[in-house]
Amino acid sequence: MLISLVVPCYNEEEVLDRFHARVTDEMLGLGHAFEIVYVDDGSADRTLPLIERLAADDPRVRYVSFSRNFGKEAAMLAGLQHADGDAVVLMDADLQHPPELVGRMLQEHSRGYDQVVARRTRTGDRVTRTVTARAYYWLINRLVDVELVDGVGDFRLLSRRATDAVLSLTEYNRFSKGLFAWVGFPTTTFSYENAVREQGSSAWSFGKLLNYGLDGLLSFNNKPLRAALYLGLLLTSLALAYATWIVGVALVRGVETPGYVTLLVVVTALAGVQMVLAGVVGEYVGRIYYEVKRRPHFLVKATNARPHRTLPEPEPEPREFVRR
Ligand code: UDP
Ligand code: MG
Repeated sequence: MLISLVVPCYNEEEVLDRFHARVTDEMLGLGHAFEIVYVDDGSADRTLPLIERLAADDPRVRYVSFSRNFGKEAAMLAGLQHADGDAVVLMDADLQHPPELVGRMLQEHSRGYDQVVARRTRTGDRVTRTVTARAYYWLINRLVDVELVDGVGDFRLLSRRATDAVLSLTEYNRFSKGLFAWVGFPTTTFSYENAVREQGSSAWSFGKLLNYGLDGLLSFNNKPLRAALYLGLLLTSLALAYATWIVGVALVRGVETPGYVTLLVVVTALAGVQMVLAGVVGEYVGRIYYEVKRRPHFLVKATNARPHRTLPEPEPEPREFVRR
């Protein structure tokens, strides 16, 4: 059995050598054939030369380097495409995903699980982050169709068929947490203590996290659109009720001129609501815009490998309609 490790790397020069040494050690101990697919996500530091050196020293190292930073989702996609293994393990380069756990994943995999997910506990996280995460998962699980679990990230093992299934999802906006959940297949989860990042800094700013969260919300269904519709209906009925009341009062007591504040509040509030709703619709239109462009998910600058699993060819253009 061949195990592929897929490792997205963005500016990881400080940890890369250590990561490689530890992972190689660990994998040699497990006694399976393995390969490591490094994906350099357009790093600005010496990550690529380091990877190239690793590849020169070790035939088990394959790498793909992007022409610029395309984001972790694209990096994982490239890694999966280039991974040849019967099982693929996705892990971060910053040693936050303990390599010791790969053995455990393989054990679970041999019991027939297609996805073995390592779920990190939130020990050591800032309280604010923990609370926001809780709230987010509570909300998102009410809104999307797939089940998303707090602490579950990309550190997981995928069987060959699960990998192929993920690769068959060719959408441009990739929210892999959701894609993995969507794919299904027998899945098992175990917990591990979260390790604090050893070197460098997380590339996740608050704004990025917020956008990521929003992506998750919007990539999986059209419930936000549905919610917008309901909100519109609710506001319309409120407005109708209020109008009836005003007219009633006017009939009984005559027209009262004061009402400037009410008017202003209602107008601005409604304008705000409409902007939000237009924004929701716009988000979906924007997604369609990106999908129809059919741009590649990433561009390769350097590699020592060929993709073994390519995405399916796009549908052929429809034949010209026959006019009758
Ligand atoms: N990463 C990437 N492209 C990016 C950002 C991050 O390939 O644009 C990689 C990064 O090198 C690391 C993994 O994704 O291996 C997780 O990134 P990070 O540690 O910054 O995220 P966190 O651990 O905070 O979720
Ligand atoms: Mg990290």
